[in-house]
Amino acid sequence: MSGPTSKYRDKEIVDALIRKIKQITNEIEDKVRIMHVCGTHEHDLVKAGLRSLLPKEIDLIAGPGCPVCVSSAQDVDEILWVADNHNVIITTFGDMMRVPGSKESLYQAQGRGVDVHIVYGVSDAIKLAEQNPEREVIFFSVGFETTSCVTAAEVIRTKQPNFSIYSSHKLVPPAMELLVQRDDLEFQGFLAPGHVSTIIGAQPYDFIAKDYGFPVSVAGFEPVDILLGIYSLLKQIKENNPHVSNDYKRYVKYEGNVAAVKALNEAYVVSDARWRGLGTWPNTGHEISEKYSHIDAKKKYNIPELNSIDLQGGCICDEILIGKSKPHQCKLFNKTCRPDYPIGACMVSHEGTCNVAATYEEIIWEE
Ligand code: SF4
Repeated sequence: MSGPTSKYRDKEIVDALIRKIKQITNEIEDKVRIMHVCGTHEHDLVKAGLRSLLPKEIDLIAGPGCPVCVSSAQDVDEILWVADNHNVIITTFGDMMRVPGSKESLYQAQGRGVDVHIVYGVSDAIKLAEQNPEREVIFFSVGFETTSCVTAAEVIRTKQPNFSIYSSHKLVPPAMELLVQRDDLEFQGFLAPGHVSTIIGAQPYDFIAKDYGFPVSVAGFEPVDILLGIYSLLKQIKENNPHVSNDYKRYVKYEGNVAAVKALNEAYVVSDARWRGLGTWPNTGHEISEKYSHIDAKKKYNIPELNSIDLQGGCICDEILIGKSKPHQCKLFNKTCRPDYPIGACMVSHEGTCNVAATYEEIIWEE
């Protein structure tokens, strides 16, 4: 293999890192649980078969890092309420189409005539608004800081009068803090998401290490990146030296992307956010700021209180999302809930923990 990423997939380097990981794991003696908070980490590490290479004393668990999976049924229900009660066009990312609401997904609603369009991003949604001046267009925006900063730029820029945004944005560092604080979770270190960190930098995780004595590694997505991050966490644990290690320096700066962070801070205010099956987590969301409230769909439409249901039919996405359970522990996994027919949100996106497990398990079976 050649090309710019080849050295990050190099077998010799991977083997050398695995040897170092095994050696340091022996020196730690105890079992170590590491949580990542990134759907791309889950997808890429499973695709590369990294879990099978790690010593059995290391448990790499998936946290709430897939933005599609964590979206609440109430967000889907509210968007559909607006669609049913106003002359609007709904736009959103393709993955959001099959995320279950309490009664139906956007995809199912499209089947009964609700006007839903898949877009690649917010600028496509604005173009659609320009082309349909007689209709209102809403962009149903989900994502962590990586995605929401792109939307933030348009929140600040657009003057399109028939356009608004329904924000379902989530924040990674405060969610990590809530995970560390939980008594029902036991893990010893965080692999922080590389792409979110290209925006916010490594600095926002400092408090996790300083206030909670918790090791953090900012890690990229190639096998060498992920293994480096794991090794860095094991070293911190062994040396009892928790800190934030930036192990993705080729893209992540300590201070982040200053212009992008400025746009996030101007476009949004920190808010409470609903996480699927996990209730409302304080200060883990981004709503549109007062200055731009004219394009805030939640303010534009008087959405009533809805009694939404996140988990249906035995789905345990709440436990999957915080690493308390693994996909195979759900009785629906790969039976009634499959990538082609998802019942829970964790099966929808190709970065959802259940989807990843089902997809690569099938490949292994086929071999
Ligand atoms: S397999 Fe399906 S139903 Fe079960 S937890 Fe995963 S998404 Fe939910």
